[in-house]
Amino acid sequence: MKIIDSHFHAQILVEKGLDAEKAMSFLSGGIDIGCSADDIIERSKITKNFPHIKRAAAMGPWEVENRSMEELERQLTILFSNVEKYNVKFIGEAGLDNYWKYGTVESQEFLFIRQMQYAEKSGRRIIIHNREADKRTEEIIREYGPSKGGIIHCFSGSLDVMRAALDRGYYISYAGNLTYKANQSLRDTLKYVPEDRLLLETDAPYLAPVPMRGKANTPLYVVHTYSCAAEVLNLKVEELSERVYSNFLSVCG
Ligand SMILES: [Zn+2]
Repeated sequence: MKIIDSHFHAQILVEKGLDAEKAMSFLSGGIDIGCSADDIIERSKITKNFPHIKRAAAMGPWEVENRSMEELERQLTILFSNVEKYNVKFIGEAGLDNYWKYGTVESQEFLFIRQMQYAEKSGRRIIIHNREADKRTEEIIREYGPSKGGIIHCFSGSLDVMRAALDRGYYISYAGNLTYKANQSLRDTLKYVPEDRLLLETDAPYLAPVPMRGKANTPLYVVHTYSCAAEVLNLKVEELSERVYSNFLSVCG
């Protein structure tokens, strides 16, 4: 069976003492996600012998903390030059986070929009982080989203966000919180995702799925999210994995 993980953080796995190489060897494909302007320098060493693991780089919304607009501009220049230098396929993760409320709304939106514009200019797809920021995420996708689309990571938003994203060619990726007992309404959204736009992920080392909930997560545990999604969609896991693998190949194409 071909299992992919569309979103994990290899460097953070290593920092936590988890076996990133074992996890990447287990996968048939995956995307190692960036959080800051220059983390790709270390990450590229971790993934260099794993050509089936694609690279993403971006400044997440947390990067606005304690930075002036000039400093953010400086960081963006570093990021964009690293993207060119390190064979980076995706811009991600970037987006808005109203749960942790990093910096100001304006600074988060500025950072998100600038990276979307760069994705468009450089012909790349974007990987979006949206936490409790449905309305602005939807508007920004419609107004600035790159024409190649991208991935909504750890989908937990409204059907409006999903619709805006699907309209613009995005893929919808579900993480381990799909398996949490309380998240029935999240499981209910699965049936609205067209079969050629569905992806699955871990966001490892965060958000371990049931029955590993509470532990440090690793891409190995993505199989639990596959089982859960297969059950909700009334599919055999083998069938679902074929589908998700083929979507992974298209989003990387
Ligand atoms: Zn992440």
